[in-house]
Amino acid sequence: MIIANWKCNGSKQMISTWFAEFIESYAPKDGSYIGIAPPMIYLEYIKRIVAEKSLKIKVGTQDLDVSNGARTGAISAEMILDYECSFSIVGHSERMQYFNEKNSAIKEKIHKLINVATPILCVGETYEENQNNLTEEVISEQLRVFEGLNFKNKIVVAYEPVWAIGTGMTPSKQEINEIHKFIKDVVQSSSVNSLIPSVLYGGSVNEENCENIFKSEFVDGALIGGASLDGSSFAKIVMSFNGSYK
Ligand code: PEP
Repeated sequence: MIIANWKCNGSKQMISTWFAEFIESYAPKDGSYIGIAPPMIYLEYIKRIVAEKSLKIKVGTQDLDVSNGARTGAISAEMILDYECSFSIVGHSERMQYFNEKNSAIKEKIHKLINVATPILCVGETYEENQNNLTEEVISEQLRVFEGLNFKNKIVVAYEPVWAIGTGMTPSKQEINEIHKFIKDVVQSSSVNSLIPSVLYGGSVNEENCENIFKSEFVDGALIGGASLDGSSFAKIVMSFNGSYK
């Protein structure tokens, strides 16, 4: 599973260039799960291109709100369902940093996604927490949003160390693998029906470092920010994951 998080980037021009470059570089493989979370305003435009070009790319949202109604600027779970979005990212550290989002709201959002779309919950420690050996403690707390929930469908967690996002730094392959295993164990033992989530790695993944990261046993894919804005780079990362690019 490889997901592009475009954040607040893009234009109609960028999107048409992106698809031209993606198609030029990409060798399709059956069964691969590729998703784009664009700014909401471009969802329709992207869906149309994906259908016209017969691409197997799913679209999702970068966030959702806890309810509908008088909440200017928000989108609700009902809208995500209505629009047949496949997934929604929840709890990205930028939402916490710039929009003051708290774990309680993240839990509500995860609840709202039950039977609506696949949640991709972002978790990860700050640099300071990492240096103080608090990574597992911080992530355990963040994963408590799944406690008591009864998801029937797939759930996904993205391990995104805050200090690795957009910085060019990444944890070692071994650290990534250990944390991914830890996340799977924690969610399995705390969710009602012992669900094992898919765990994606996110934070400065690019064409050069992805192959090494994808070799890790417990890595089920990646959530990609900066490198996903280039259609050709993104295609190469997907192909590396698919084992079809060397
Ligand atoms: C992200 O913010 O979700 C992310 C993974 O960003 P980047 O790839 O740019 O580090």
